[in-house]
Parts: sequence; structure tokens; C-alpha cells
Amino acid sequence: MLLNELKVGETGKIIKVGGSGSLRQHFLDMGLIPECEISLIKFAPLGDPIEFRIHGYELTLRVEEAKQIEIVRIDSDHKAGNENESMDAEHPGFGEDGIYHELQEVKNEPLTGKITFALAGNQNSGKTTLFNQLTGSNQHVGNFPGVTVEHKRGTIIGHEDCEVIDLPGIYSLSPYSDEELVSRKYILKEKPSAIINIVDATNIERNLYLTMQLLELDVPMVLALNMMDEVQGNGGSILINRMEEMLQIPVVPISAARNEGVQELIDHAIHVARYQEKPGRKDFCDKRDHGGALHRCLHTIMHMIEDHSSESGIPLRFAASKIVENDAMIIEDLNIHEKEMKAIEAVIEQMEEERKLDRSAAIADMRYIFINDLCKKTVIKPKVSKERLRSEKIDRILTGKYTAIPIFIAVMLSIFYLTFNVIGAFFQDLLEEMINGLAVKCELLLTDMNVNAALKSLICEGIFSGVGSVLSFVPIIVILFFFLSLLEDSGYMTRIAFVMDKLLRKIGLSGRSIVPLLVGFGCSVPAIMSTRTLPSKRDRKMTIMLIPFMSCSAKMPIYYFFVQTFFKDISWIIIGGLYFLGIISAIVVALISKNTVFKGEAVPFVMELPNYRMPAAKNVLRLMWDKAKDFLQRAFTIIFVGTVVIWVLEHFDFRLNMVEPADSILALLASFIAPIFKPLGFGDWRMSTALLSGFLAKESVVSTLSVLFGSTAILRDSLSTVECFSFLTFCLLYTPCVAAVAAVKREDGVKGSIQLVIFQCLVAWIVAFIMKTLLTFIGL
Ligand code: GDP
Ligand code: MG
Repeated sequence: MLLNELKVGETGKIIKVGGSGSLRQHFLDMGLIPECEISLIKFAPLGDPIEFRIHGYELTLRVEEAKQIEIVRIDSDHKAGNENESMDAEHPGFGEDGIYHELQEVKNEPLTGKITFALAGNQNSGKTTLFNQLTGSNQHVGNFPGVTVEHKRGTIIGHEDCEVIDLPGIYSLSPYSDEELVSRKYILKEKPSAIINIVDATNIERNLYLTMQLLELDVPMVLALNMMDEVQGNGGSILINRMEEMLQIPVVPISAARNEGVQELIDHAIHVARYQEKPGRKDFCDKRDHGGALHRCLHTIMHMIEDHSSESGIPLRFAASKIVENDAMIIEDLNIHEKEMKAIEAVIEQMEEERKLDRSAAIADMRYIFINDLCKKTVIKPKVSKERLRSEKIDRILTGKYTAIPIFIAVMLSIFYLTFNVIGAFFQDLLEEMINGLAVKCELLLTDMNVNAALKSLICEGIFSGVGSVLSFVPIIVILFFFLSLLEDSGYMTRIAFVMDKLLRKIGLSGRSIVPLLVGFGCSVPAIMSTRTLPSKRDRKMTIMLIPFMSCSAKMPIYYFFVQTFFKDISWIIIGGLYFLGIISAIVVALISKNTVFKGEAVPFVMELPNYRMPAAKNVLRLMWDKAKDFLQRAFTIIFVGTVVIWVLEHFDFRLNMVEPADSILALLASFIAPIFKPLGFGDWRMSTALLSGFLAKESVVSTLSVLFGSTAILRDSLSTVECFSFLTFCLLYTPCVAAVAAVKREDGVKGSIQLVIFQCLVAWIVAFIMKTLLTFIGL
């Protein structure tokens, strides 16, 4: 039978893992391997995806992905018990001594100069928390060259010559996602002095899978067993010394959240890096396993490619495993001759025959066999995990069949209410007051000093309003990211993705895009910035493209102004209608692009559902600060220059005389483009001027209109109802403001941002045209 045919609460044993290419590799990497037991926990409220439990952790799969896995059902009484359960043993203290713990005598010449550490680990293993503990406040955020996968660097507190680089959270070193590729390239090419591998000790089997692969890289390494507070709190324990013996690297139990054991971790990390103490063991295949089929295969290949490995600088054992896994990139880098490849192929085929498993599954199986053995010997499982029970209870409500979606809507609404109406608004007003105060003082000062009128206007109207418009975003961004990081750190974000996945699948996205899209209703800038957490480039680009269709809060003043002027009695219908129109346009665009530009599937939904955890205040504050800084640094220049340029255009004519806006370069430009809007019914140059200034900030459409038309009465007389609808439609959909475009440039490059602006204007024109034609047709 197939995995999706299990019923809730039932357990099955995996017989065969289907699928192909990197998806299949990902299945295997996540622990879905033959012989392994898997239980179905629940279906998402909409019936898809499904939550499973495997290797002691929770995993989600879509129905169609589950269909690729064959199982047999097993009776619940026959389930393998856990022998280690509640065995009595001493708890290891934080920083207990062990063989690899005692800093060994010097073997190599110590490395001089700067030391770099790569911090690698699964998602949710506490990487960010540990990174913040290690580096304190001296860190900077960047992107890996060529891809938008974020990384952070920082120096370790008290060790000026030690730098840590926070690699993205990954499950494996297979080239499945950008993150995995980037991490692997970083370690292979940039050669950090040592790796700090952080492992979530409450979910140790799954986490050690990455450790196995990191060990193969033959780089000095220490293992940080994180979340030891939870393990011990539940009566569990880990025999650290035994684990060190088996892995032959230093293992340090820590609690990153409580800053326990971190100092010892630093000492050991610096020691292995300085003296370049490589892992004592890279070999995890067993002679006795199935007649040693895989063992023989791997070692034969290792001999065959020895020289290729040293020439290309790819560690030997790692290269051999990747060849068996059929990793095209590594095979190419190794530069293996065709004839050699044929011989290797024969060796692998022989292994597959003897092992009765295909190549990728055999490697994954080997790693899990070792991990199971290691855990059996070293891990004393807690009786029941309080955190697990708590998560199950919370999940009964948060992902419950009838409660999940209402709660999700309530959570998002409260976040919006607090951000835009309460906290954000308060800080925004405060900022505005301060800037206005400064502007007034500055104006007085400049008048006193008898400064030239043009310069005065530039400073007071151009620069101050420019700075003001940039700063006005900051409170919103900071507060929204505050809430977003709470959602993310607590573990609720993955549940949202789980619950909403089925809906978003319909438009070609995955559940993870829902949050950026919803944030778009508040402000496109943080929405676009938050797409960085999406796992595939395609999803990221497509989500960024759809975000501007979500009517952001800065468009509200435009709607409000027009409904007040034209349709006072039915204002809420019109405004509601506009929001709805935005969503419909997004859906239509998504459906069209799903089959054209963004052909292909949303990323598979093989995702871990971590336990709910209390977010660490330090992480949250750090993120708020990072995002604000990031926004200010990158967007300031563009927005600022944009403002000054528009100011110049608005106040000068071509002979550089200061003139009234009506005679300015901007007005002239607007009258050039005005004919484009003729078919839409608003060919007046003043309307196009307003639209141009709206590129800076949507609110300024209204202020420009009021200045140019003089009074609302004149505006009302010069626009018909149909023309007004058409104008509103255009405002809803045309280019996002300059701050949002700057954010797109940051995520998707200059080309992406220009494409988006053009595309968005085009869609706006077409929809407005349809709107006008329809309304004229029905005789409004
Ligand atoms: P990352 O995804 O690997 O960067 O993980 P984070 O650092 O964001 O941590 C994930 C969650 O685990 C957060 O809610 C942290 O507060 C929590 N956490 C991190 N370290 C510890 C720890 O040592 N003990 C406990 N109980 N929780 C922790
Ligand atoms: Mg993190």
C-alpha cells in the first residue's frame, strides 16, 4: 500500500521510496528510507499535506509525495520499542571532561593568523541563538555572491582573531536547495579553519545525518549538542564520552538559549582549529553490513579516485559517497575519465545488486544504521518530552480541523492591527513630529542666514520630505519583523505553511508564501524582504511578483480621498471592492504565470514541524535591528536620490529656473505620457503628474492632485464616475513605490526590479482598460 493510505494513528514500514532526482534524494536525506517505521499523525485541515512521525520527529509530506512511498502497515503492538528508554544514568554536566575534551597535546604546528569557523546545522537547531551568543553585537549580514541566500559573519566575543560564519540551516549536503549548495561550496572552496556543527539533542537522529556528511569533509570539527536543558529536564541524558569515542571529535553539551557550555565550546573549537585536529573517523560503512557490499564499494571507489580527489581538492571520502549518490556536480569537479567512470559504475551496480537497495538509498541507509547504533549506545531517551506533549496540545488547536484557519486569520489580523493602528502608528507619528520639528527649525535657520530660495526649498521640501518618507517605513518594518520573528521562532510559521499549503498550491505556490503575501496588505517592503525565507528561487520570484497586488496600507489614502469625493454613501463597498480586485488580479496573474514564466512545481513540502518553543528575546531584538539597518542602508540611497530627483523635476523648468509645479519639467513629462492614459479616461496631465509622484510614495498621489487641481470641487467636475473607477484601478495595480522597488532590487537584482515595474504598469493599464470598457458598456 501507499503511505497516504495509512489512517490517522497507524504505523507502517517503508518498503520502497519512489520519486526521482533531487526530490528523491531529499526524501532519503530526511530519513525516509526502506525498513524505517513511519506513523501518520494528522491531515492538514484542508486534507493536504499530511503530518508524519519518523525517526522521532515530525515531518510533513503532500499527498502526492506520500503516494511515491510504498509501505506495509504494521500492528501497533509490534512496533519496535526503545531499549534505551528511561535507563538510569548519570547526567552529564555542562562541560564534563572527556577524552576529546581534554585539549590534546600539540601534534601540528599551530595555525597562525585569523581563524574562521563555519557554523552548520539543521534548521531550528538553535543556530541563530548560538551565533548571537558567540558574537554578541559585532556581526554583519550579507548574501553569498550570486545567490540570495543570507549569511551572517561575526567575531567571537573576546577572540578578535576568530570569525564565525553562520551557514544557512540545512539537512544534508546534497544539492537539493540553494542553501545546501551554498553551504557545501563554502566549506569546500572557502575552506574554513574548522566547523562547529550544532545538533538539536532532542531530535538527535535526524540532526546527526548532517554530522555524518560533515565528518566526511575531513575538516576539523566540534559537535555542539544543543538544547541539553530540554533533554535533561525530561530525565534524558547523553553519554558524551562514549559519543566522542565513536565519532572521534570533541562533543560539547550546551544550551545556547541559557548560554551554558558555550565557553567550553569556544575553547575546543579554537583548539581544533589552531592545531588542525581533523576528525579521527570519516568512515561509517560497516564490513558486517549486508556482506559489506557498500563498504567494499565505497573503498574501491576511494582508491580509484584518490588522485582526482587530491587534484580537485574535494575530500576523498566525501567524493566517494557523492559519486555513489550520483551527484553530477561533484563528479564533474572530480574530472573523472569516461573509462574510469564505467568501472566505477560497474562497482556501484554490483553493490546495488548485493545490497538490494539502489545507490542513494544504500548511502542514506548506511548513515542511519550508524546513527541508530550510536544513539543506542549513547542516548538515554527521556521518558516523555514535556515539550513534545505541550506541542501536541497546542497543535490540537492551532492545526485542528475547525480551529486552524479561524485562529490563523485572528493572529494575522491582530498583528496588522497592532502594527498599523497601535504601535507602528504611534512611532510613526512620533517620528513625523520630530522630523517636522527639525524641518521647521532648519527653515527658520536658513531664512535667518538668507540662503538662496532654491537651496532652501531643496533642503526643506526635498531632503526633509525624502528622509521623512524613508524613515516613515522604519517603525512598520521593525514592528512587523518583531511579530514575524515571533511566528518563526516559536514554530508557528511552519504550521501556517502546513495549514495553508493546499490553497496556495492551486495558484502554483507553496504554503510558505502565505505570510509574505499577507504582509503585503500592510506594506510591500517588509513583505518582499520576508520572501528570503522561501526555499526556492522560483517561489521567491513568483511571490515577489504577486505581493504588490495586495493593496498596501499607503494606498488607503488614495481610495479614501476618492470615495469621499465621489461615492460617499457606498465608500466601504468601493474600498472592499478594490482590495478584492487586487486579490483577483493576483490570482489571475499567478494562474497565467504558473503555466508560462514560472512553469514547474512549487517546491515539495518535505518539511520538519519542530516543537513549539519560547522565542529567545535576543534573537528577536537582533532581527529587528538587522532588518531596520538593512532597510536603511540599502533603501536610503535609492529613495533619497529618487526624492531629490522628483523634487528637481517638480520645481524647475528645462532652463533651470524655479517655477510653479504646473510649468515644471515634471508637468512637461506628465503631458508627454498623458496620452497613454487617454484610453483609460484620465488623459489630463495633472492626473499623470500625480501618478508619477505616486512612485515615490503612494500617499503623495493625493497631495499632488490637491495642489494641481486647487480644490476637490474642480477635481470632481473634471472626472466622470467611470474615469474615477478606472483611475482607482490603475492606482491599485501600477508600479509599487520606490521603497518597494528598492527592496525588490535587493532580493532579485536590478533586472528583476525593472521587469516588475514594467509588468505591474502593464497589468494596471490592461485591467483599468477592461474596467472602463465594462463600466461604459453597462452604461454607468
Ligand atoms: P535556527 O533555526 O537554527 O537558527 O534556530 P534558532 O536559534 O532560531 O532557535 C530555534 C528555537 O529554539 C528558538 O525558539 C530558540 O529560542 C530555541 N532554542 C535555541 N537554543 C535553545 C536551547 O538551548 N534550549 C532551548 N530550550 N531552546 C532553545
Ligand atoms: Mg535561525
